[in-house]
Amino acid sequence: RLWNFSAGPAALPQPVLERAQRELLDWQGCGASVMELSHRGKLFTGLARQAEADLRELLAIPEHYAVLFLQGGATQHFAQIPMNLAAEGASADYVVTGHWGEKAASEAAPYVKVNLAASSKGESYRRVPPRETWQLDERAAYVHYTPNETIHGVEFHDIPDVGDVPLVADMSSDILSGPIDVSKFGLIYAGAQKNIGPSGLVILIIRRDLLERASRPMARIFRYADHAANDSMLNTPNTWGWYLAGLTFEWLKEQGGLAAMRERNAAKATLLYGAIDGSGGFYRNPIELASRSRMNVPFTLHDSALDADFLKESEAAGLLALKGHKALGGMRASIYNAVPLEAVQALVAFMQDFAKRHG
Ligand code: PLP
Repeated sequence: RLWNFSAGPAALPQPVLERAQRELLDWQGCGASVMELSHRGKLFTGLARQAEADLRELLAIPEHYAVLFLQGGATQHFAQIPMNLAAEGASADYVVTGHWGEKAASEAAPYVKVNLAASSKGESYRRVPPRETWQLDERAAYVHYTPNETIHGVEFHDIPDVGDVPLVADMSSDILSGPIDVSKFGLIYAGAQKNIGPSGLVILIIRRDLLERASRPMARIFRYADHAANDSMLNTPNTWGWYLAGLTFEWLKEQGGLAAMRERNAAKATLLYGAIDGSGGFYRNPIELASRSRMNVPFTLHDSALDADFLKESEAAGLLALKGHKALGGMRASIYNAVPLEAVQALVAFMQDFAKRHG
């Protein structure tokens, strides 16, 4: 049995993949693949509505938020968010705790004055900077942050209080990993390829009053209000991604919803960090305890000369995609919703055995 620890595109739940395989050639007896159906036909719009309803139920999304199924990856929305939320000449606050927050700020810069309200770059992104050190501007158009930094393995465990300024969160690598209070946010967005479905789909949840903010001239395809007014069908949506996301939402409901996922994810993370911290220094994770990610666990071996053997042997043991991001080196185990406890148990057993043989 192979276990996939890829950071993204990442493992999807096995039952979702099996169902998609069964349904691939003939979706619900319609004689065609779901990929071959018109997005405007009754069959597909029914599927689309159900997926949105299931996501709303899972996250308890209030009615005064729109849910959009978009494209362009999270990266396109790094730029599109300031286009939509900031008037010409306005500024926005960015709290940067890793690679993706840094990129979000630099991609926003052509469209808004970026105020770096807080950054832990000087500490090699080893923690979330304490809230009292943030320099927020109450006139900012919004505050942007990345609740989970996929590469550095840094996660916020509470939603920061930023007063009345709309809070914008890139939840690409932590969405659906547990319940969240959506009403605390102005806008939440996530590329699908970690906890939702295939890449090429972006889920964006936006408080409806913020849809009215876009004041500068822009093509309709960039304007969230136009997507919302057209039920995310301003142009042809990523129908295949939408379908798979819907299957994942159904699967999450069957698992007991997001409270159950939070418990499972906590158990997996506790097991893996326990193995790292209990290895007598053979393995190390550099992140401050209170800022450790439950989704992405980077770790190094005490001697990097062992990295190649670790990767070769782990792959032979059926543990895939453990190589760390090139910016950090070492290893990284991504343990999103679709990775079961059994996979983490197999990884920990391998790590302990490897340490014994090479310690
Ligand atoms: N934000 C976060 C937190 C990510 O992990 C990633 C990586 O996929 C991105 C943004 C970039 O997403 P995309 O490749 O969909 O543009």
